[in-house]
Amino acid sequence: MRDTFLSFSPPLIGEEEIAEVIDTLHSDWITTGPKARRFEQEFVEFVGAPAALAVSSGTDAMLVGLAALGVGPGDEVITTSLTFCSTVHVIEHLGARPVLVDVEPDTLNIDPAQVERAITPRTRGIMPVHLYGHPCDMDALYALADEHNLFILEDAAHALSATYKGRTIGSSPLSQGVGEGTGVRALAAFSFYATKNLTTAEGGMLTGDPDLIDQARIWSLHGMSRDAYKRYSSEGSWFYEVILPGFKCNMTDIQAALGLQQLRKLPSFQERRRQIVRRYTEAFATCDALQTPAERPEVESAWHIYAIRLNLDRLRIDRARFIEELKARNIGASVHFIPIHLHPYYRDKYGYRPNDFPVAYREYQRLVSLPLNLRMSDADVEDVIEAVIDIVTRFRR
Ligand SMILES: *Cc1c(COP(=O)(O)O)cnc(C)c1O
Repeated sequence: MRDTFLSFSPPLIGEEEIAEVIDTLHSDWITTGPKARRFEQEFVEFVGAPAALAVSSGTDAMLVGLAALGVGPGDEVITTSLTFCSTVHVIEHLGARPVLVDVEPDTLNIDPAQVERAITPRTRGIMPVHLYGHPCDMDALYALADEHNLFILEDAAHALSATYKGRTIGSSPLSQGVGEGTGVRALAAFSFYATKNLTTAEGGMLTGDPDLIDQARIWSLHGMSRDAYKRYSSEGSWFYEVILPGFKCNMTDIQAALGLQQLRKLPSFQERRRQIVRRYTEAFATCDALQTPAERPEVESAWHIYAIRLNLDRLRIDRARFIEELKARNIGASVHFIPIHLHPYYRDKYGYRPNDFPVAYREYQRLVSLPLNLRMSDADVEDVIEAVIDIVTRFRR
């Protein structure tokens, strides 16, 4: 057994990121300025997006995205129960109603058939979450959006550099055939939180149609018609107008400095993630007490999270005990996610019962996320495998 604790997801920050941050600190501009603009441009090129807006978190990217789409009281937005709470919070923040639906058993992504059943005359849009980095069934979702005149705001927090039918998540139109030429308004929100595939400590990016991005930019900075860099730089003017009651969630140049250097490394980061995933999947292939994550043929996952599922009928312990046993072997693990409809706020406000979303509820009880990060050595990966196999052997039913 290893003698030091293996953290679940520490960040990998190199000397290049540190030098870029120091360069910013030595400059005359530390908040949103030239580096934030350059990070946006390079991100646009990386994912093939029409336009991008850098903000202070993935949550804020979703918030200003929904605001730009005009979501407000009386509106309904459909999303999945198996996500991080903030996907749903942003809908509440704007006074709209989140409508949760169940997930597909293989990917645990939002189920388009359930989305279709949840559509009402008040439905304005769909927020698919590319869970663990595996893209949702976008052709089916675009077909529904087109038919019912809905927007699509992707929670792409896990999905940076994932592809769907050869198209990078965040580019648009994402969906071949139906996405093209239809009037579906689409945005994607990325997170650069410390654990994500690319990090700026805290940060986020919204990509999509340039008109919507322009509107979201205004929402992200007090509703002002002109940002501070444009006001204070030599070609700027002191004059601005407030055209709506905006939020304050712009990205600083210090964060963007981290992002610029991380973006250069992202392809090699992703290669390493895939290497670890291949090793895990190969090692667990013969364990009948485990189900390894699926990757549908038409996608390439960004592999943000490697979530195994326990076949509980083959084990004498439950998921909580399994994670305790990992911890006792110095391996950090987690669960993504506790379904939204089980959290007291949403459960009580909307009267949800656990089995309202039976797939999400059932799968939640057997999910375990294993360490998958860029700080892991090959020996660390083997330690995780050894611990998992030791536990399933010891507690086999
Ligand atoms: C991390 C995460 C977010 C929120 O991103 P922040 O940058 O922390 O605001 C939203 N949705 C999902 C699925 C996430 O994992």
